[in-house]
Amino acid sequence: MSGTGERPATLLARAGGAHDEATGGVLPALQPSTTFLRDPDNRYRRGFDYARDASPVGHIVEDLLCRLEGGTAAMLFASGMAAATAIFRALPYGAHVVAPRVMYWGLRKWLLGQAARGRLAVDLVPLDDLDAVRAAVCPGRTRLLWAETPANPTWVVADLAGLAAIARDAGAHLAVDNTVPTPLLTRPLELGAHLVLHSATKYLNGHSDLLAGAIVTAAEDELWQELRTLRHDEGAVLGAFEAWLLLRGLRTLPVRLRAQCAAALNLAAALERHAAVEQVLYPGLPSHPGHALALRQMRGGFGGMLSIVVRGGAEAAIATAARVRIWTRATSLGGVESLIEHRASIEGPHTPAPPGLLRLSVGLEDPVDLLADLEDALAAAARG
Ligand SMILES: *Cc1c(COP(=O)(O)O)cnc(C)c1O
Repeated sequence: MSGTGERPATLLARAGGAHDEATGGVLPALQPSTTFLRDPDNRYRRGFDYARDASPVGHIVEDLLCRLEGGTAAMLFASGMAAATAIFRALPYGAHVVAPRVMYWGLRKWLLGQAARGRLAVDLVPLDDLDAVRAAVCPGRTRLLWAETPANPTWVVADLAGLAAIARDAGAHLAVDNTVPTPLLTRPLELGAHLVLHSATKYLNGHSDLLAGAIVTAAEDELWQELRTLRHDEGAVLGAFEAWLLLRGLRTLPVRLRAQCAAALNLAAALERHAAVEQVLYPGLPSHPGHALALRQMRGGFGGMLSIVVRGGAEAAIATAARVRIWTRATSLGGVESLIEHRASIEGPHTPAPPGLLRLSVGLEDPVDLLADLEDALAAAARG
């Protein structure tokens, strides 16, 4: 991949310099063809033959993500889950993997389902405890160590360089779900990870209007070839329209994320002083157990996600979410609209979320309005 040394905001605002060769349009053209012309000598010199491999705009996005993460290659998928599950399915049958107890719940549920069928051997560990991770990883047997930091929904922080060393010593790969920090705040490959995963549905696109996933690799090795084959054969590729929209979303990522980080930090500090709030979980707060590590590992902010634990448990939390007017009661994260969600309701009995936990995805509304709305909802719920 080409590397110009441009800073992320420059790279993204200009879409990496992409434009339409045919017309001079300052944007790359949306090219929806599923099939491409073969040259008279039977070759495909322009590099495209059939859309199950990629779309022209998809290539531009893959190149941008690769440069943002500092990788050697990237691949887009139809969703974050399509990308994440491809990584595990590229491993040999019965492979041992170690994953966090606190992680994106949909993937944890899928992993436990694979384990129940004997497809994978799965150990779930507290990822902020390196000794526990070391004890769970078996040299020669463990193929993959999975990490997410800060991790849904308690935002526990994992030491990626420490995890990379454990994986390396055991002959395993470290794969990191970098959906929440994005490469603007954390670059896992620089810290020794082998693969980075994104649900591009979230911050990278940022407008809650498409599903997309991406994987970036440090090396185009055997595992990467296996992933390429999987995507090619099975077709969980990102469509041309979605790739084009994702490029549009990506161009404003730095300015969106900067505003979301600043607003999240202010909200977290204000809510920590609120009488109806038992605990605020945000790595930017000195009270958060992962704060010192987050300060070392994250650059430019602590992200746009936080959780609050409401006094009075599930009932009080659900009552609070019922009374907001500016926050939107919905799942997902990373969009321009602020979202609020009672996590235990969606995650079910194995959730690490305390019953009173509300997850907040901070959008781009005025932070003063966001705080006032939550304070009113908390006060109204406390009155009953
Ligand atoms: C949403 C999400 C996923 C799954 O991505 P989809 O695009 O919804 O399939 C994976 N990891 C994290 C951290 C997420 O937030």
